Amino acid sequence: MNSDLKDANATVSIPSLVLKSIFNDCDRHDHDETGGRIVGGFRRGVDGSLEVSVTGVIEAGPNARRSSTSFFQDGDYQAEIFRQIESAHPEVEHLGNWHTHHVNGFPNLSRGDIATYRRIVNHEKHNLDFFYALLVVSRLAGGEGISRYCIRHYILLRGDDAVYEVDPAKVTLTRDPPVWPLGSKPEPSKTEAGHSKEVRARDSATIPDLFPALRPYWSKRAGTLYWKGVLELVDGSWIDVTVPEVVSWEYGEASCYQVLAKKVPSVCAGVYENFSGRQFGSAAQAVSAFERELNQSLYRAINERSGQ
Ligand SMILES: [Zn+2]
Repeated sequence: MNSDLKDANATVSIPSLVLKSIFNDCDRHDHDETGGRIVGGFRRGVDGSLEVSVTGVIEAGPNARRSSTSFFQDGDYQAEIFRQIESAHPEVEHLGNWHTHHVNGFPNLSRGDIATYRRIVNHEKHNLDFFYALLVVSRLAGGEGISRYCIRHYILLRGDDAVYEVDPAKVTLTRDPPVWPLGSKPEPSKTEAGHSKEVRARDSATIPDLFPALRPYWSKRAGTLYWKGVLELVDGSWIDVTVPEVVSWEYGEASCYQVLAKKVPSVCAGVYENFSGRQFGSAAQAVSAFERELNQSLYRAINERSGQ
């Protein structure tokens, strides 16, 4: 514990599924800060000690803004989710926030973080007289599952400028199901993750030969890979295609691929329509099938024209 931080005289309990959800979010944003709201309950001991019980975490939301040193949450989205949680769990409170520094290496709350949290805890609309902050500090080399990130816990009190750190020995993990996210899905098993890595490797080996005008890109927002470029058709025309990797919950959470296209010739509109929602085991399979069916429909159109 840092010498400038005081002991919080607090305990924290947190479901391991909440930590899992936080760490998965950190994996998805490995260049930008990310975070979310923490909800739950609390109890005060007669000796003034504080028991914080985390029961859920609300994701940053679709309009969150992120950079490597800053992070702004989508408050409207989070307020809506909070109302949903509240309707099922009227006792729930907004305990605080979590965010990550594993992308910039700051091992502690920044001055900006502390200023923000002080403003919140001293705000007349803040229900509680404390604010709980969870900080993801770093990714641990060789760590797995919920041991793969190092985290710290802080408490700020209303009308008190100190920042208190919760003794790691007073943090316990529970097996309780979180109130949010609902139906937290278990992490894809090793074989599935390994499988999608294999597929990516095979695509990287074959696509440059088969479709040299397609290139792989990484979607930071979705944490997935996609291929993008142009596809030359049998009549010499070109269309723009994007082949995103998507997670298919129906197929055991395995990654699969879809085809999106622009500038599709009107004779091929029916083919493209048939491809909407179709999923393929690899990007190469997706593009090959798309190219084949587009060319077939172009041939048919050419034959019909010459037959007239
Ligand atoms: Zn920060």
